[in-house]
Amino acid sequence: MPPVTKPGQEKYDIVFIGGGSGGVAGSRRAASYGAKVALVEVTEKLGGTCVNVGCVPKKIMWHAADIAEKIRHAEGYQFKGPGVGAPQFSWSTFKPQRDAYIRKLNGIYDNNVSKENVEYHHGHAKVLSPSTVEITRPDGSKYTLNTSHICVATGGRPTIPSEDEIPGASLGIHSDGFFDLEEQPKRVAVVGAGYIAVELAGVFHTLGSEVTMLIRGETVLRTFDPTLGETLTNWMKHTGINFRHGSKVKNVEGTKGQPLTVHLASGEKLEVDCLLWAIGRHANTENLGLEELGIKLDQKGNVVVDEYQETGVPGITALGDVAGKALLTPVAIAAARRLSNRLFGPEKFRQQKLDYENIPTVVFSHPTIGTVGLTEPEARKKYGDENIKIYKSSFRALYFSMLPEEHKEPSVYKVICAGPEERVVGIHIIGQGSDEIMQGFGVAVKMGATKEDLDNCVAIHPTSAEELVTLR
Ligand code: FAD
Ligand code: NDP
Repeated sequence: MPPVTKPGQEKYDIVFIGGGSGGVAGSRRAASYGAKVALVEVTEKLGGTCVNVGCVPKKIMWHAADIAEKIRHAEGYQFKGPGVGAPQFSWSTFKPQRDAYIRKLNGIYDNNVSKENVEYHHGHAKVLSPSTVEITRPDGSKYTLNTSHICVATGGRPTIPSEDEIPGASLGIHSDGFFDLEEQPKRVAVVGAGYIAVELAGVFHTLGSEVTMLIRGETVLRTFDPTLGETLTNWMKHTGINFRHGSKVKNVEGTKGQPLTVHLASGEKLEVDCLLWAIGRHANTENLGLEELGIKLDQKGNVVVDEYQETGVPGITALGDVAGKALLTPVAIAAARRLSNRLFGPEKFRQQKLDYENIPTVVFSHPTIGTVGLTEPEARKKYGDENIKIYKSSFRALYFSMLPEEHKEPSVYKVICAGPEERVVGIHIIGQGSDEIMQGFGVAVKMGATKEDLDNCVAIHPTSAEELVTLR
């Protein structure tokens, strides 16, 4: 169903601002309880970052890269014939195919919200009061919605340095621009060392681009357990990704769409076809009317909320990326569903809220990473060195036994236990299959598993995951 063009209700129970992971999940859940719900999205597509320029197209590109790796590995398993060992990826024909799938998902999202009787409005939403949301439609016309509750789920967008800070910075692209690339760039410089930097660098490199990482520190993923960052950095280097440590971009020269010259503070210059900024994201709070109502933003510009997603202004909540905590799709969805359960669901949900501890997460690097709980430095700080026991294993997955040395990816698993009962407070794994292994171990940690509980689970053989229940 297309978006409505005027309010269908005199008063709504709740208006969700933002048709991304949080807004869509929360509005559908609220409507499932019979609440009168409006959902406002400023772009023409539902699904937000995850569906349009995030998790979904990213994972599709990761799969493409994974297939390229398998084609390179096929020789080791004695596959013969043209193409084996030398993947030929057509970015320019794959992109429209990927885009078509995303459009299909947008349609499914449209259907899902209308099936649930969520009233979908298209336009920019601004909060005028705790009970009024103003919508500005693409043609400039405005109308207002009256409501009992407002939930701000406007997400965020990529950060890119200003032209004042780094002249020529806007010649580069960010993750949204990555998904617009019609052709595969031959030479790419990636600035940043977080999730997006390593994931997109991995895709570029595995599909055949020459990649240089411009990072500030010694390793990527510095906010993760150090073992993960060290192992991944070493493997990325081994596979031929170039690194410039302690680097800072001074300025960029060139013309958009043409080769660029990236000048580093060290005096070095790099000629590239694409410069990708992957230095973090910031919340979409501009022109939303929040500060005028006394809603606080933190130093980074995220909306400050309490454990129930309340902003402090009665009736206005915020969740997902705009609230700045664990910027992950399932977090936005879980917070939104719990909010709607609490506001409109049965009595038993009156106190429901999302527990932000022990959220498992995966980095779709090559190889993948899975992690849950405290890093080793965090655990040592929290419990003291004497109360921490680390179990660690480094190995090569059986899959690599048939491949030459250069292709043998590392696997490194670390389990961090605390106290005399050896409660598992952190699991950090890197290696083939880590993305699929982590979910179950996330359940175990959430349930308070001890090392003995892991040991009591009989191993599944031959897998990589079995290492986690046989550590000594
Ligand atoms: P969004 O999904 O960003 O939705 C916010 C919506 O609000 C947008 O559609 C926006 O247009 C709309 N909006 C903004 N302002 C207004 C306004 N004033 N009025 C109306 N509408 C407005 N997470 C994972 O869990 N796994 C992954 O593999 C993963 N990969 C990622 C890869 C990339 C490249 C990126 C960038 C992110 C990735 N994420 C991943 C993070 C994930 O996409 C976000 O955490 C998630 O989308 C946040 O959901 P949200 O609802 O808070 O915000
Ligand atoms: P992140 O916050 O993960 O990482 C950005 C990194 O860039 C920082 O850790 C920092 O690393 C580096 N950096 C920051 N500022 C600068 C600067 N000025 N110059 C150079 N480097 C800088 O942000 P991302 O953009 O990678 O991703 C945003 C969020 O989206 C993630 O935190 C994650 O929550 C989510 N996401 C999740 C994914 C998943 O679940 N698989 C995938 C992609 C995104 P250092 O200090 O080492 O320099």
